[in-house]
Amino acid sequence: MSVHARLGSGMSRTRGPHCCCLSAREDRLRQGLCLHSAEGSGGRMMVARGWVVLTLLTVECSGPSYHDSGVGTWFGRDARGAVWGRGPWPEVHPADDVDVVIDQLCPALMLLPGATAGSAGEEYCGAIYSFKGAFHVSWPAPIHASSTSTNKTCIPPSVVRDDRGQISVLADYHSHPWRHSRMSERDRWKSTQRYSYRIQFDTTCTIEKLIPFVFEERPGEVYERRSGRWVLTGRIYEKNTGRIEPVGSTP
Ligand SMILES: [Zn+2]
Repeated sequence: MSVHARLGSGMSRTRGPHCCCLSAREDRLRQGLCLHSAEGSGGRMMVARGWVVLTLLTVECSGPSYHDSGVGTWFGRDARGAVWGRGPWPEVHPADDVDVVIDQLCPALMLLPGATAGSAGEEYCGAIYSFKGAFHVSWPAPIHASSTSTNKTCIPPSVVRDDRGQISVLADYHSHPWRHSRMSERDRWKSTQRYSYRIQFDTTCTIEKLIPFVFEERPGEVYERRSGRWVLTGRIYEKNTGRIEPVGSTP
């Protein structure tokens, strides 16, 4: 959800290389999608890991992109056009401390196709939610505003699906495919806030958290994750514009 780069529509979805040419963890991350495309029936990645390695030695996985393999199974749009995401994403282990989940998220997501590829890359959006006292994340989804969108953007899910039962969404998250890329102004707009807070990170895994306090008088707050702590770095007094005032300054 940044506006740093403007790309033609043909660049908005990154195709991955053959599954057999990837690093070990990247290989595993894509195996679920390759397997899905090979089965054509939405086979669950968690169940399949044990034998998929051998299977992939003979399965050609060069066709579908991450988006094309996952859409309709792990993420997509419903009949009304609302973006949904399915959880849990098995690359992030559930935890009763949400920060433990957040700390796992960026390193895992940066292995996805195009996640670190800058202007030729891909942004991924998802949600952080609770289920039976533990926090989980939905699958990272490269869902854009439209196929002709000129902005490098993804749309956070407004619905999270978890087949196990009732869940509660706490926050959305998204990545930027650049180094040293913080939340954009648009990321901080009051009108784009849907949940209690927003997590964003770049390819260096610098993590920011925005607590917008949309319905409260108090200013919004921006934090950065440093050595396992959230450090307050700015406040947002003008919530419509998202203008950030560094900590220590006055508006
Ligand atoms: Zn953004």
